[in-house]
This record gives sequence, C-alpha cells and structure tokens, in this order.
Amino acid sequence: TQQITVIGGGLAGCEAAWQAAKRGVKVRLYEMKPGKYSEAHHLPGLSELVCSNSLRGDSLENAVGLLKEELRRLDSLFMEGAEATKVPAGGALAVDRELFSNYITQKIEEHPDIEVVREELTHIPEEGIVVVASGPLTSGALAEEIGRLAGNYLYFYDAIAPIVAADSIDYDKAFRASRYGKGDGDDYLNCPMDEEQYHDFVKELLAAEKVEPKSFEKVVHFEGCMPIEEMASRGVETLRFGPMKPVGLTDPRVGVEPYAVIQLRQENREATMFNLVGFQTKLTWPEQKRIFRMIPGLEQAQFLRLGSMHRNTFINAPELLAATCQLKSDPRILFAGQITGVEGYVESASSGFVAGVNAARMAKGEELVVPPAETAIGALARHITNTEAAHFQPMNVNYGLFPPLIGRIKKKEKRGLLAQRGLEALQAWLPKVVAE
Ligand code: FAD
Repeated sequence: TQQITVIGGGLAGCEAAWQAAKRGVKVRLYEMKPGKYSEAHHLPGLSELVCSNSLRGDSLENAVGLLKEELRRLDSLFMEGAEATKVPAGGALAVDRELFSNYITQKIEEHPDIEVVREELTHIPEEGIVVVASGPLTSGALAEEIGRLAGNYLYFYDAIAPIVAADSIDYDKAFRASRYGKGDGDDYLNCPMDEEQYHDFVKELLAAEKVEPKSFEKVVHFEGCMPIEEMASRGVETLRFGPMKPVGLTDPRVGVEPYAVIQLRQENREATMFNLVGFQTKLTWPEQKRIFRMIPGLEQAQFLRLGSMHRNTFINAPELLAATCQLKSDPRILFAGQITGVEGYVESASSGFVAGVNAARMAKGEELVVPPAETAIGALARHITNTEAAHFQPMNVNYGLFPPLIGRIKKKEKRGLLAQRGLEALQAWLPKVVAE
C-alpha cells in the first residue's frame, strides 16, 4: 500500500490523515507551524480554531447540527476532540480552543502510522497520493503551485452576496424576467423599488454599521466586486447604474421599468436558494438582515447565508474537482477543507473526512466513495462540485443545499424531515465507509 501525503495540519488535514491511517494506510502530514504562521494562526498545535470557539448549533433544526451528528456516527476525530473539550454554550457546541488543539495534536502524533513533519511544503509532490488541505490562508509558494494546477480557477478573496431561501420570497412583489428577455427570458427574480424606496435604502446603507477589515485584509476592491455600501458612497445614483440597474426589466404587472431593481439569481439546481446579485458587502450581519428586509419581496426573507468579504484562498471546485474530492486533471491529488470552497470549521472537517477515506481507498486499490446527496456531508460535497462554476463562492452547510422533499410539506416540518431522511441515508451508507 502506498503512503499518502497530507499538506496542512488544520481541521481538514487532521481529519483526512486520521481517517486514512485508521484504514491502515501510512500518512505523512506536513504542517508549517510553528516555523511559519499564517496571519490568523497563533497556536503551535494542529487543528487550530482561528476565530470563534463555537462549532455552531447542535440541534438537528440546523443543517450544521445534522452535519455534526453524521460526523459523530462516522467516528470523526474532529467530533471526538470536540466532545472531549466542550464548554457550556447553550444550544451550540463550543470547545476550549487550546484543549481542542492539544487533544487532536496528541492523537495524531501518537498514531503509529502518521508521521508529522513540521515543514512548509512549497510544492505538491510529483508522485503518490496527495491531499491538499492547506486552508484559506495557504502559504504563498504553495498557493502559486496550486494556481498553476488550477489555471484561472484559484481565488484569493471571497466577495459573498447574501442568499435567501426561495420559499421565503414574496412572489406577489418579485417578478420573473431577465434583462431584455435574454437567456430563458425569466431567469431572474426581480425586486422592484420606487424612487422613495430607493432613496431610503441608499440612506440606510450609508449609515449602516460595517465590519472592520482585519489588519491583514487590506481592503482590495476589484472593480466588479466592490461592496454595495462602498458603491453607494460614491454617489446616490451609483447603485442605480450598477447592480440595481432597472433597464430592460419590465414589471409585467404594470408594464413599465421600476425605478431600481434588486435581481435574485437562482443558486442551485433545485431552485431552493437565490442570491442577491452584486450584493457583496461588509455590513454587520444584523444590519444586513434589517436593511435587506427593506427590499420589496424580501420582507420575510430567511437568510441562508449573509454577505461578506475576506481574504480566502479557494479553488473553483465545480470546475476542477470530482465529487470524490479528486482533481479531475490529476486524480492522485485530492483537495479538502476550506480551499475547496466549503466554509466553516465543521464543513472543513467533513470535507477532510471524505478526502481521507478516498485517499486511503485509492492507496488500497478500492473503489472511491461519494456520500449520498440526502446527507449533510453529501449535500455539501455535491454542492461544491455540482453548482454552476461561473458564480461559485464559498458556502456553509444549510438545508437549502439538500435535494427538496417530495410533495407539499409544511414549512415547520421540513427541517425535521430533512434531518431524518439524512440520518437514514447515512445509516445505509455507513457499511461502505466504516473502517474495520
Ligand atoms: P486550516 O484549519 O487553516 O488548516 C490549514 C493548515 O495548513 C494550517 O495549520 C496552516 O498552518 C497549514 N499550512 C498552510 N500552508 C501550508 C504549507 N505550504 N505547508 C504546510 N502547512 C501549511 N469558520 C468557522 O466556522 N467559524 C469561525 O469563526 C471562523 N473564523 C475564521 C476567521 C478567519 C480569519 C479565517 C481565515 C477563517 C475563519 N473560518 C471560520 C473559516 C474556516 O472554517 C477555518 O479557516 C477552518 O480552519 C478551515 O479549515 P482548513 O482545514 O481548511 O484550514
């Protein structure tokens, strides 16, 4: 059996190394700390939580709660460490950051089949099975190498627009149309504003509270992905000539173009989620909810993701990766963690699980696996490899990513049913992936 190489001893890399070793495969894990630290990492240990110590909600009402439950059942090291080091946090699962890192570090270092090499890897080994899990702040030299593999599909910044649940949009106000009837003619949902609503909206944007960038996140605004509040500050008409441009969008109910328009673009194939086109922003989360609910049609919007802008190294997974986490152009290389475009601690660990299992299976000459779409781990894996590549942006797990339930189901019962379906699918899949 071949030895595998894992690059990065973060959340994804440790889970991948652990799962591979558990399946009897020898692993060499490279971690650049403590010789070199990214701008956000400070602890010398592995699996460092760089910001909040919360792994978010623990109830099955949240997709991240389901994802954690699945990882428990899959015997993940990340969840074992979290349970062993948890601190009281109401309905959330939070951990003591140092104890958590120490727990994982010790487990990894003591495993007889894992060799930890504390070195920065500046290139991807030319042979053998490799899992790239170097995270959102991948070191410069390695990022360049990944850039060569990824062509134009490596990004260094995310400019994320909010996403709303399709069933929370008011369709009496939003109308279907694409500009000048292009494409299918009704590809977008459009939220129309009159002059007064537009001016009120711009005023609120200008006064809103913003998140200050971290010192290492020097504000780089590429034209074409500038935060909307920044655009609004350039002049009262700027948004109306930018993302809120109404030209070519006739409201069929009144037969005229509105004064301004917010366009919503379908986010996934099942049409359960829509994003606010061009609405990347650095407003705080409460401010986004308050101000974006002023948009006609979004008064009751449920936000599945809020907008943000960060330094974040990630590849265009839908273009480059197979659902097994393999690089399509060189399948001995797998990617895991935030660099694949998943967002969040638990999501990164879950992606490490899939990559680790598949790296081990490849080393042993076994068929690779893809988790079922009905599970949280599968919905996420499927989202990052199956969405439209042109608009790919990092994503947390949420119930909008799951294949819709069949039939008419009351909104309040939906999450429970999705969770139940997910756990059943996981139980059926378990025998395929458990380590003997
Ligand atoms: P990481 O955990 O970052 O692991 C990557 C590892 O690779 C690091 O240990 C790094 O030192 C190492 N490495 C990098 N380059 C090399 C190299 N060339 N050679 C060897 N080793 C290398 N998510 C949340 O859920 N909640 C939060 O509050 C949160 N806050 C965040 C704050 C910031 C500033 C950032 C950047 C991200 C945040 N995230 C948060 C998002 C994300 O989930 C975490 O960054 C998560 O740790 C990603 O897991 P990972 O395994 O992909 O990468």
